[in-house]
Amino acid sequence: MKLIVVEEHYMSKKINEQYMKEMTKIVSPAVCSRLEGLQGFLENNKEISDLGELRIAAMDKQGVDMQVISYGNNSPMDLPAETSVQLCRQANDELAAAIKKYPTRFAGFAVLPVGNPQAAADELLRAVKQLGFVGASLNGAYNGRFYDEPEFYPIFEKAAELNVPIYFHPGFPDEKAADYYYKGENIPTAVSAVFSSFGYGWHVDVGVHMIRMILSGIFDKLPNLKLITGHWGELVPYYFDRIDETIPQSLTGFTRKFSEIYKEHVYITPSGIASRGPAILAIGEMGADHVLWSHDFPYIKRDDVKDFLMGLPVSEAEKEKMAYKNAEALLNL
Ligand code: CA
Repeated sequence: MKLIVVEEHYMSKKINEQYMKEMTKIVSPAVCSRLEGLQGFLENNKEISDLGELRIAAMDKQGVDMQVISYGNNSPMDLPAETSVQLCRQANDELAAAIKKYPTRFAGFAVLPVGNPQAAADELLRAVKQLGFVGASLNGAYNGRFYDEPEFYPIFEKAAELNVPIYFHPGFPDEKAADYYYKGENIPTAVSAVFSSFGYGWHVDVGVHMIRMILSGIFDKLPNLKLITGHWGELVPYYFDRIDETIPQSLTGFTRKFSEIYKEHVYITPSGIASRGPAILAIGEMGADHVLWSHDFPYIKRDDVKDFLMGLPVSEAEKEKMAYKNAEALLNL
């Protein structure tokens, strides 16, 4: 069975150098050391900056036919607009060149300079129309601002107009929130740093972000808008019944229940989490029509991504949808 995975990452050494130089000027020493941690990944993992044979070889080994690639964390989208606009263009151009070389194996989600939402909308347009990208990916909120704020509306308006989805990928939570929730005198700093981010905290953060998008009413304004989110929906599908019960339409004023809006506009992916319980729960809540597959390469490198899907207790037709048919339809591949 064909397999298309949609949360796969690359980073550019050249762009990261510039990124670190600019970020060091504006973030606290604590945040800087987190960014250095991710830079370490770039230095120690050849695959993350490879958009050629190394990546193709890994895909062949894993039974992956196509990767839809997006920029990893330490993304140029975090920077102030003055530097971000140019660096995001550069990153998208770099990925576009690789897609041109391997058009049947790679596709791309653009990185956007969200610090200037109009420039981000323009870059999305350029990436889709000129570079052939199939959407965009956002790594966490921007500088403590969530995307349901009105200033970011042009980005989502453009995505809806172009009929491409936006992937809500996790990023480091705001420093104040991270300190409040994840620091403790009895928790070592190194443990707290992971706890606040990929250990747990940034999943909660992006789950809350998705809920905020729905509660902001953006899907009434943009009925064609589609979002994707990883890690089996970042805990949200688990709480559908609770949210419908406690934040009802009489409170929101929406014509549909929270879970109905979510299930119509959101697609979820595993991001390499191969545990059966969460998979069955998420597929059961969302339906196979709104699940895409993903590996989270090369942050996660495992050879059972396809076997895990094939071993799930769902029908062949549902496996086909999750393995490639949904991705082909949503991303127009
Ligand atoms: Ca990821």
